[in-house]
Amino acid sequence: MSTILNPATEEVIAEIEAAGVEETDAAVARAKEAFPAWRAVSPADRARLLRRLATLVEENLEELARIESRNVGKPIAGARGEVGMVAQVFHYYAGAVDKNFGETIPVAGGIDMTFREPLGVVGLIVPWNFPLNIASWKLGPALACGNTVVLKPAELTPLSALRLAELALEAGIPEGVLNVLPGKGSVVGQRLIEHPDVAKIGFTGSTEVGESVMRGAAATIKRVTLELGGKSANVVFADADLEKAAAAAPYAVFDNAGQDCCARSRILVEASAYDRFAELLVEATRGLRVGDPEDDATEMGPLVSAAHRETVASFVEAEPLYRGDTPDGKGFWYPATLIEARPEDRVAREEVFGPVAALIPFADEADAIRIANDSEYGLSGSIWTENGGRALRVARAIDTGVLSINSNSSVRPSTPFGGFKRSGFGRELGMHGLAGYSEVKNVFYSTE
Ligand code: NAP
Ligand code: MG
Repeated sequence: MSTILNPATEEVIAEIEAAGVEETDAAVARAKEAFPAWRAVSPADRARLLRRLATLVEENLEELARIESRNVGKPIAGARGEVGMVAQVFHYYAGAVDKNFGETIPVAGGIDMTFREPLGVVGLIVPWNFPLNIASWKLGPALACGNTVVLKPAELTPLSALRLAELALEAGIPEGVLNVLPGKGSVVGQRLIEHPDVAKIGFTGSTEVGESVMRGAAATIKRVTLELGGKSANVVFADADLEKAAAAAPYAVFDNAGQDCCARSRILVEASAYDRFAELLVEATRGLRVGDPEDDATEMGPLVSAAHRETVASFVEAEPLYRGDTPDGKGFWYPATLIEARPEDRVAREEVFGPVAALIPFADEADAIRIANDSEYGLSGSIWTENGGRALRVARAIDTGVLSINSNSSVRPSTPFGGFKRSGFGRELGMHGLAGYSEVKNVFYSTE
């Protein structure tokens, strides 16, 4: 039994039966049984079912956003945005079902063609920070390609995925196609990784667990997609619109209380603009509205758990440049914190996954690129400059999967998302997302 808390109040909001190995095997068996019929559903009908699911998510947006807000402690306005994106992702992949084209390839003696076949049963393992949103990035392409799914939500945050499973049935997606199995990673997750009838693991989570997913998948030659940790850079040049960059920077790291794999938690600032930018950044961070997640105006809520708060606190070893306020009373609150750091400091190297940003000066463009790339991770990042040539030069030089120029934005339903280096591999979202959930088959037809 898992006890599910509201991180803002520490109240128990649900008790959930945790699945074990037997239930996992049963769910995989159901998904396997449902696969032949689901792959045979016509593309137009599969698209229609996904579109109906998208519409049901829209119709139940407020309820899903409230579930997500209460379970994760995230501000309701942000939760609405995330659930809105879930619907957009299903709409996008509904539109992609009949556009996952093969090729015809010129060869001698016949016709050569390729098909994109589904893999079979896929196991999806997702984290607690964006429970439904990240699940949709995998469910959309997996279902669109004709796979059946066993989804394991994070132990702390299973509620929104369970509600989604009900909506999938209501949409008319056949039983057995989308199975949601709450339970522990070390039990359900591990069994999915080992199970011979699971063809692929789509995993989002920590780099540490990602390593064990990859090791575990080796025995059955499972396909894996790994979306792992990050320590992304927000690079601010002296020629940037400093007011605009400073107003945006707090949201690039304190959104979702910093529990965001894309958090730009290393803020690199050109030395000549450092003092001015630091002043503006402190002011902007002071303006963050921290408090009750159910209040429409709130921008930052608590962390997900007491244990996670302890981990986050361990990163703050020196007196910070700025430390914000938190509400009194219950809840796993941690203040927005700005720390002046050197690139070699722990807070500038390891993923904090909390509202702690490291502020680091750089000398020039080459120095900025060097520091940005001096990381084992490579997930996201931002560049702020009014010089277009420099923006593109630096964007090409930084080893990271997702970059934005004069913006914090990282994800859109239609554009590829994923990491370089220890941030993982494989791409989700956009048409690239389909590649991870289908296998290319080549067929040669002799005309002789
Ligand atoms: P985590 O501890 O790695 O857990 C992620 C998922 O894996 C959870 O469902 C977890 O289940 C499961 N799991 C844990 N141990 C497992 C095992 N031995 N075998 C199979 N599954 C196992 O990550 P988290 O603490 O939930 O999330 C934070 C991390 O996720 C951060 O590092 C963050 O950067 C990363 N993240 C990456 C992205 C991205 O797209 N790149 C997005 C969001 C988050 P339990 O909950 O039951 O432990
Ligand atoms: Mg964990």
